[in-house]
Amino acid sequence: MVNSAEIAGKVLYQDERHSVIWLGTDEKENEGVVQTNQYLVVDGGKAALIDPGGVHLFARVVSAISRHVELDKIEMVTFSHQDPDVSSGIALWMGVTKARVYISSLWMRFLPHFGIVDLSRITPIEGSGRSLPLNLRFVPAHFLHSPGNWCVYDPISKIIFTGDIGAAVFPNGGQYVMVDDFEAHKKLIDGFHKRVMASNKAVQAWLRSIAGLDIDMIAPQHGAIFPREAAVKFLAWLKTLECGVDRIDEINRSGA
Ligand code: FE
Repeated sequence: MVNSAEIAGKVLYQDERHSVIWLGTDEKENEGVVQTNQYLVVDGGKAALIDPGGVHLFARVVSAISRHVELDKIEMVTFSHQDPDVSSGIALWMGVTKARVYISSLWMRFLPHFGIVDLSRITPIEGSGRSLPLNLRFVPAHFLHSPGNWCVYDPISKIIFTGDIGAAVFPNGGQYVMVDDFEAHKKLIDGFHKRVMASNKAVQAWLRSIAGLDIDMIAPQHGAIFPREAAVKFLAWLKTLECGVDRIDEINRSGA
């Protein structure tokens, strides 16, 4: 269970000028709705907001951010992919911040359907080499699960924000923030990854993309956060996972 202190959020990393914050939860907000995680990176007073989420949790996330930084210090909003639980709040976030929004070029022309008129503040993510605000880096994660999908790596905290990679689906009232016991956690990630991630070939490509990164924590957009030891176990589990089109006949037979 999430304890009352954690409902408002949790600092995942902090030094003199840099911090990373998980922006809390509201278990009522999650009833009948897929639970989501939002993250804030603050560096020298500037901020980046990672996968800020859908319209219905906007007010809670604004108030959680305001405990750490003023909204006009947010320079960057990133979307790992186009799903509504990641990006449907885009018009609201562009209204209350001056931030540039980063998303795969595949999805730029879909965003106006969430109410955006001006695309000039939206930047397509073009590659992992480009220098970004707060020294963040994009890492390709295409087809995990979306065809245009990016992770964000923070080299200071060594946290990688992985979107749906590592996502868990909690039973009602069963949410927790950190993965303490990977073996017990596996049952909450297994079905989602097998059905939603495109294939083991896509997994292998992502593992090559992150091979050179020092990863202290894996922070997904749903479920719980993996500290280093659990992250190592998760990556080993993922490496051999048959998923998506690897299991297409079984998925078709199940009708799900
Ligand atoms: Fe998604």
